[in-house]
Amino acid sequence: LTEKVKAEHATEKLVNEGAALAYSKVSNVFERVESESSRLAITAIVSEFFLEVLQQSTVDMLVKVVYLFINRLGPDYEPDLELGLGETLLIKTISECYGRPLSKIRADYKETGDLGIVAQKSRSGQPTMFRPARLDVEGVFNTLTSIAKTNGKDSQTKKINLINRMLTACDPKTSEAKFLIRSLEGKLRIGLAEKTIQIAIAQAFVNFESDCKSESKSLKKKINPQTLTKAEDIVREAFSQVPNYEMLIHNAYDHGVMNLLEHSQLTPGVPLKPMLAKPTKSITEVLDRFQGEEFTCEYKYDGERAQVHLLPNGEVRIYSRNSEDMSQRYPDLISIVQAGVFGSQNRKVTSMIMDCEAVAYDRKNDKILPFQVLSTRKRKSVDENDITVQICLFAFDLLYFNEESLITKSLAERRKVLFDNFTPVEGKFRFATQKNSSNLDELQQFLDQSVKDSCEGLMVKMLNGSDSFYEPSKRSRNWLKLKKDYLAGVGDSLDLVVIGGYTGRGKRTGAYGGFLLASYNQDTGEYETACKVGTGFKDEDLSNLYQKLHHTEILQPKTYYVYDTTNSNAVPDVWFEPTMLFEVLTADLSLSPIYKAAHLEYGKGISLRFPRFIRIRDDKGIEDATSSTEIAEFYERQANVN
Ligand code: ATP
Repeated sequence: LTEKVKAEHATEKLVNEGAALAYSKVSNVFERVESESSRLAITAIVSEFFLEVLQQSTVDMLVKVVYLFINRLGPDYEPDLELGLGETLLIKTISECYGRPLSKIRADYKETGDLGIVAQKSRSGQPTMFRPARLDVEGVFNTLTSIAKTNGKDSQTKKINLINRMLTACDPKTSEAKFLIRSLEGKLRIGLAEKTIQIAIAQAFVNFESDCKSESKSLKKKINPQTLTKAEDIVREAFSQVPNYEMLIHNAYDHGVMNLLEHSQLTPGVPLKPMLAKPTKSITEVLDRFQGEEFTCEYKYDGERAQVHLLPNGEVRIYSRNSEDMSQRYPDLISIVQAGVFGSQNRKVTSMIMDCEAVAYDRKNDKILPFQVLSTRKRKSVDENDITVQICLFAFDLLYFNEESLITKSLAERRKVLFDNFTPVEGKFRFATQKNSSNLDELQQFLDQSVKDSCEGLMVKMLNGSDSFYEPSKRSRNWLKLKKDYLAGVGDSLDLVVIGGYTGRGKRTGAYGGFLLASYNQDTGEYETACKVGTGFKDEDLSNLYQKLHHTEILQPKTYYVYDTTNSNAVPDVWFEPTMLFEVLTADLSLSPIYKAAHLEYGKGISLRFPRFIRIRDDKGIEDATSSTEIAEFYERQANVN
């Protein structure tokens, strides 16, 4: 935006500054989105509202609104900003606040399956003696943040009081109570996925900028669809590099949405979304894909992804695959990085972002240990002196080095910077073992060797040219994974959300004997059932799982669980809050009369045949589960091969 336009806009805003944005406006939009099924129409509703906020309020207000829409309170990597309150606490609060007996609230919940609706109904039925001040976006956002941050002694009571105050202020003529309760539960379930919100942000800014430039504000301008698509791609890309809506929205406002990328530079201390690989089933499939291109193979280590950041102030931070700060959990890794970075002679490393795998390591025998050993490490309050499972860090990429982003350099170039500036430290810090070859026999040998060396198989990566740039957040065809164990199945394991449990019988009495699993539909935000799994568990797994899942049991299935209500096989004995992912193996995938994964694409759902539990996948968020689209891709590839 030109300075003149910005100044004009600022003057206009002065008039509105201080005017609160009513929360009812947000809840009205939620209501409209919920009753709309067309994705295009939903995007239009949301982007028009974002535009209205931009025009009539402040940029900071848009940031808060966007967070309310994605039902978070800050970036993923900031701790203690999670909502997701349990239904028992919310039932109690609704009952207390609206003066209705617990039994009535529970009965209503049983009938509707939606605590939001129960709260709404209770609010409407309650006589209002006086009208408390109306809720506004700022107040709701701040109170939700206080609730998320409340912990320790008396936290339950404090939370109830805070919720109470908001519920009392809800206007019975709006849907405020319904959506407040859903926000507190951690899921709005209005069929609005984050993807759509990013598109809406892009559209709102394009329209805002065009409005600002135009002489006549009353005429609705037609925006070239290509401009919109470009802006959408830019917003998506900028967010994957700097996953922080506050920065994104401020940058778009200050510099224009089309210039976002130049102003969304990687920043040590802000974890970027990692690049991911596509599965493959054979070396020949790999060779077909990379025909005529130069590629490289690396060992695929079986540990935990560690994105290592060195900040200009010398601080080292380690982020998980899921952008969580793991620095407290891995104090030994911090020392290793410091030794690896500062130990290298005659070189000066002032800042960096390095992509690595942290692997359990037997330093005495110089041997990689299996993932199971790594998972026995303590997760909280780790004291470096008490650590028994040692770690070796295997570096495979360098994304940022000495104030410069490297992601738009080729892998060959990035590797050179990595190799030139860092020095391996025995048993602690190494580069991923690699081989450049396109000979089938050599690759087969390298794959076999990787497994002998306790790795999962190989990662095969494009080496030169723009196809080898680092693509944050993308599951890219420029990175292929070849997992030795899964070559016989669909080429990979799947990570599915545990949404239900079946009562164990016989030896499994007192625990769950099986589980209902679902994939995540990234377009609708729904969880679609994919299979029931009852094999692969050891006895101790089952008692462990019972301990972990029992308190997440809920009275009703979530309204965003898609399952076949008519088939008793697909209805579990108990439903769970979506909190856990299982990594599972399958013989193959087939169209199913009762399961629902990818049902919108095929009419029928796709299900896993002979699924087998491998492990709990706790380094991924629930929405990082294998998506319904990925299941469809697995299915299609399999159909092509057979
Ligand atoms: P999974 O880990 O089950 O394969 P994922 O969805 O976490 O699934 P993928 O893209 O499928 O991730 O596989 C890449 C993962 O493999 C990375 O997240 C990283 O943790 C690990 N990895 C191990 N060695 C390498 C390597 N040399 N290059 C890239 N990633 C590696």
